[in-house]
Amino acid sequence: MNIYDITLTLSPEIPTWPGDPKFVMERFDKIEAGDNTNTTRIEMSAHTGTHVDAPYHFFSHGKGVDQLSLRILNGRAYVLHLPEVSVVTAAELARVNIPPRTRRLLIRTRNSEYWAAGVKEFRTDFVGLSADAADYLVRRGVKLIGVDYLSVAPYKQSRPTHEVFLRNDVIIVEGLNLAEVPQGRYMLYCLPLKLKGADGAPARAILIGV
Ligand SMILES: [Zn+2]
Repeated sequence: MNIYDITLTLSPEIPTWPGDPKFVMERFDKIEAGDNTNTTRIEMSAHTGTHVDAPYHFFSHGKGVDQLSLRILNGRAYVLHLPEVSVVTAAELARVNIPPRTRRLLIRTRNSEYWAAGVKEFRTDFVGLSADAADYLVRRGVKLIGVDYLSVAPYKQSRPTHEVFLRNDVIIVEGLNLAEVPQGRYMLYCLPLKLKGADGAPARAILIGV
């Protein structure tokens, strides 16, 4: 069984969204200091590393992350390679071959190369999806979209793309590392932390070859 761990490793070095709190992980109990155990506290934005966005992220009355469907978060998925594009548009998606009835689509772009190279600073020039690309995928029946940087939308254009997806109950998974994953079909397993009513949550995500 071929398992791809497409989750970013959480450490203080992980790039975070400009203005968001940095990821903090520290031991408050230390064996070397005479404590019985090593025990760590973490402090982070719910949108750190590999994470899921809930409708509440953009809509005051939207669903929280604990209410998202596990049936959508887990199941057959298609990984699409778009190594050349700087913005994913509807025209680009119409040009490539996405298998019919794809419900979960993960898009690997040049963003994954940042993770592979261990780039530690936030990149504002990451590849995102335009709002018309979101519309196109909603019309095709896509229920989950996964992207390989920290936002599904291009930098400084967050709201239109997110709104189209979240208004149509499409689950957004951000911060995937798809650098090792060939284009093709997989089983996706994505399990966000069950944070009550939260606008997002960090997740562990894996793909298994089918
Ligand atoms: Zn997010």
